Amino acid sequence: MIIDRIAFLTALAILIRNAGLVGLLPATDSASAATALATGGKTDSGNICWLPGDPPNGRMTAFTETLRDSLDMAIGIVTTVPFSHATPAAFAAHNPDRENYTEDAAEPGTPGIAEEMVLEFRPDVLIGAGHPAWDNPHWVPSEGYISREMLRDLRRGIEGIVFLERVPGLRATAALSLAGSFLDPDDGRSLFALYGGSGSCFEPWQLLDGGQVCRATVENPTLAEAGLVALEILSRNEQGFFLVIEQGDIDWASHRNNICWLIGSVYDLEQAVAALCSRLAEGCDADLGNTVVLVTADHECGGLEVANESTLATGLVPDMAGTPDSSWCPGGEVFFHSSEHTNAPVRLYACGPAAAIAVLDSLEGSYPSPSQGCLDNTQVCEFFEMVLLERRLARNGILIIGDGMGTGAEDAASLFLHGRLDALFWQDQKVFPFSCLCATWDIDAYNARASMLGLPLYSPEEFDPLVGSDLLSLGPGESM
Ligand SMILES: [Zn+2]
Repeated sequence: MIIDRIAFLTALAILIRNAGLVGLLPATDSASAATALATGGKTDSGNICWLPGDPPNGRMTAFTETLRDSLDMAIGIVTTVPFSHATPAAFAAHNPDRENYTEDAAEPGTPGIAEEMVLEFRPDVLIGAGHPAWDNPHWVPSEGYISREMLRDLRRGIEGIVFLERVPGLRATAALSLAGSFLDPDDGRSLFALYGGSGSCFEPWQLLDGGQVCRATVENPTLAEAGLVALEILSRNEQGFFLVIEQGDIDWASHRNNICWLIGSVYDLEQAVAALCSRLAEGCDADLGNTVVLVTADHECGGLEVANESTLATGLVPDMAGTPDSSWCPGGEVFFHSSEHTNAPVRLYACGPAAAIAVLDSLEGSYPSPSQGCLDNTQVCEFFEMVLLERRLARNGILIIGDGMGTGAEDAASLFLHGRLDALFWQDQKVFPFSCLCATWDIDAYNARASMLGLPLYSPEEFDPLVGSDLLSLGPGESM
């Protein structure tokens, strides 16, 4: 019976892909995916740590809240996209609608995500994009990621918050490094640093022939620079810390089928992971003996397939046709089957204390998952609570998210940047000894597929994990 269902679902996935219909079936979005990572619970698309069905008082608790409340751990969030966007928000806010970026944009009486994050949760370090001077200069309330009033108050000074922002002509690292040299979470002061560009994010990296990449401007930090400052500040906290790092452009580039932006963004992520691991290897307060590091994606985006490995591996920048917002590769190096998210499982990598990594091994198979060697995204929360809170196998945690980074994005970037597959920094098994796949589906995606198959809709007590994921993407050797 189960074989029949696998065969049927695989055939269905092939049919959908070959008919060019990838992206038409609902797939998880960043809000529900990040909620699963942060709270260990599945919810509907668009919900930020809020129960499915949007009930009043539907807040779900993120493990970042639990770690702070129970252990007094310091919390940091760093992202290349707007700070109040869905993925970072899920670690410091609760909202039935991810679009409620500010109080101005939200329904009357509904809190804005930006206000909840910055003024209520107050991460010890929050560095992100969404600066209105570049992104929303005319202050259109429905388009902004921060309200005019909050920015005014931050500039005038809010007690306990050190506020930095993008300044024309000034290197971002100048002020960030200064803040990093003295801020201490134990002193009760937090850092909020607001950067960005005209496309809302830190501005895309540029690819150069030969596999080189260069940044668009030094007025925004690189993810590595921002991540290192966060690590420096957070590691002063004697009770430990948890740091969430997101490279969000990978998803934005994938929606636009923009392979150059996508590869540049994976490069940015790789530089950040390498920089953080190298700092941990130096053995300061936080090191690889007391800090567990997990690299994964919240979901796949674009249904990216590397069609011509040899062309990408030369490091030649692929020609792009169309516009930067809707591109394709006439040279056939890669092919995007969609401009939307898919339900393809993503990869997950981990390093840190051996006892903590052993917990990941033990989690495999403890939850219904679509294949052997595949965790569910809800188990990421379970893992961090187990190793940091219940068993105290590590003092600190770092969760690094390549938003929208499917296996195709990793393959394309690895080929262009390193000339071969599986050569990204986190794919080195000597550095990251644990790797597996991770399912990403949410309740809306599950129910759309269950309806097609005539199966019962999702309930937490009873569901079939095979229904949620796109089986085709499991790939040879990774399928059942
Ligand atoms: Zn997306």
